[in-house]
Amino acid sequence: MAILEIVQAGHPVLRELARPLSPEEVASKELARLIDDMRETMRAAPGVGLAAPQIGIGVQLAVIEDPATVPDDDARARDRDKVPFHVIINPRLTIEEGEPAVFFEGCLSVDGWCAKVARARCVRVDALDEHGRPVTIRARGWYARILQHEIDHLNGMLYIDRMDTRTFQAV
Ligand code: ZN
Repeated sequence: MAILEIVQAGHPVLRELARPLSPEEVASKELARLIDDMRETMRAAPGVGLAAPQIGIGVQLAVIEDPATVPDDDARARDRDKVPFHVIINPRLTIEEGEPAVFFEGCLSVDGWCAKVARARCVRVDALDEHGRPVTIRARGWYARILQHEIDHLNGMLYIDRMDTRTFQAV
């Protein structure tokens, strides 16, 4: 396994629409290896999500894992629970509840900064897992925020496109 380099805002791959993975690609050894490397890269960063464009590869793949190692009060305020490691491939996002939650958010590709971002509290994601099986994820709270953030990456968007610009600050 390898720790991959995370590209920073300004790199064009972060602004491109990532292409979907084919069933053959999903079943390939190369993809399994890439997922292993992305997991290690996310954990080393550390982060709670990593999308393929962030390591310079414009495909619709992201890894997510939230150990939720924050104080209880913070976790409660953010509706944040542990999320086990998993993969989303070719995801489709549906907003299930419009009422947004506003919290500070950061990104491994905008290193050293954070800002307040409004995100939907409840989402549904239809995607493929790492075995190419269709999965439907219903998520709320912080997990819903992570999914929205990672799927934005696959659409060439960064949180700085959605942030309250006056709250942008160094971490
Ligand atoms: Zn990010």
